[in-house]
Amino acid sequence: MRSHGFALLCLCVLLTACATNPMTGRSQLMLVSEKSVIAQSKLAYNNLVSGLEKNSKVNANPIVVGRVQTITDKLVAQAIRYRPDSEQWEWSVKVIDEPDTINAFCMPGGKMAIYTGLIDKLKATDDEIAQVMGHEIGHALANHGAEKMSVGMASGIVMTALGSSRQNRVQPEMAQFAALVAWQLPNSREAESEADKIGIELAARAGYNPDAAVSLWKKMMEATGQQSRFDLLSTHPASPKRMDDLAELVPYMRPLYASTETRPSVPVRVDDGKGKESDEPVVFGGSSLVSTGKDKPLKLVSPVFEKFKLGMAELGCEACVVQFQYKKSRLRELYDRKEWDTLAREVLETDYPQDMTYFYLGVSAEGLGLPAMARIYYSRAAELTQNSRTRCKGALLDDCAGLDVPQAAESALARLQQEWPD
Ligand SMILES: [Zn+2]
Repeated sequence: MRSHGFALLCLCVLLTACATNPMTGRSQLMLVSEKSVIAQSKLAYNNLVSGLEKNSKVNANPIVVGRVQTITDKLVAQAIRYRPDSEQWEWSVKVIDEPDTINAFCMPGGKMAIYTGLIDKLKATDDEIAQVMGHEIGHALANHGAEKMSVGMASGIVMTALGSSRQNRVQPEMAQFAALVAWQLPNSREAESEADKIGIELAARAGYNPDAAVSLWKKMMEATGQQSRFDLLSTHPASPKRMDDLAELVPYMRPLYASTETRPSVPVRVDDGKGKESDEPVVFGGSSLVSTGKDKPLKLVSPVFEKFKLGMAELGCEACVVQFQYKKSRLRELYDRKEWDTLAREVLETDYPQDMTYFYLGVSAEGLGLPAMARIYYSRAAELTQNSRTRCKGALLDDCAGLDVPQAAESALARLQQEWPD
């Protein structure tokens, strides 16, 4: 996985077409804009739904539709707190009558669907439906659609370049075809893990039990024997690793689930008696959301960040140098803007051990009012400065981003020693 990610990242740097994931801070290859992917998805969704309507496959049972609608409304109200711009998306959900299909999706831009097979075959509880839909919404929020297309296009460009070395030109049709093919592909394991994290957190904040994330995948696994080709499981292996990772997150989610904070209320829907929702896009952000909408966007709970706050962060990926190089100017910007929370998170995301990265953790901890932890990280930076392999000064391609790290770490340590003596 590492080497695969490494190759993509090289491509990403080469094509200078990287974006920072709006939810996790990870670098993503981005050759197409999210806006264009949202527009394409809307067309695809409308085509799909009109086809299903012709075959009377769109469920109109007010109890079923109302149940799903309530769950997704609550999730969307939370999603907007993480990505306020998604308030402008045309969020909507359909229940598709396919009793044999265990599947659900949320396209870029918020067009969702769930198949009756998932609800009925798994005997899914509200908590479990919230986990599935939260996961799917997670893919949309983290812009995985555009990323997948970009990776497909990039490999298309490379393939075409290889295949037509006589014509010194990339054929745009090939790139488009590659993008279409990529659309059908499963997400990377990294993207899946991101969607899992986002999903369980949205659900917990919306008032759905995080334990259901584990029980859901257990049920999925048990249903493996009877799955069809179109099931969620074909693109989402319910591996023991996946369930272990989710189970590890559960304790961090409990406080969000138990929180008594007022949850944003969701639009009240008027049942027209036919059990059919109107095609009008739902407008979120009514009076109930105004106050939260103006707050700073929420950040995902990260066990790694929690460890950082306890002074226990360890940067351990020496091979992550390319990732770090790519991020270097952004990290310097965050440092200049004193965005300590984001700086720490993104340094932790690079996972690259160097005097400069530990120095950044030090200033972040100090900026966040954690002087004792700051000392731990500054000391580590001062230590790494001693070793030519782990110092930025003199390293290949490295200029310490214009900072005198050894000096800065030493003087910070001296200052903290004075202000907060042992
Ligand atoms: Zn997924």
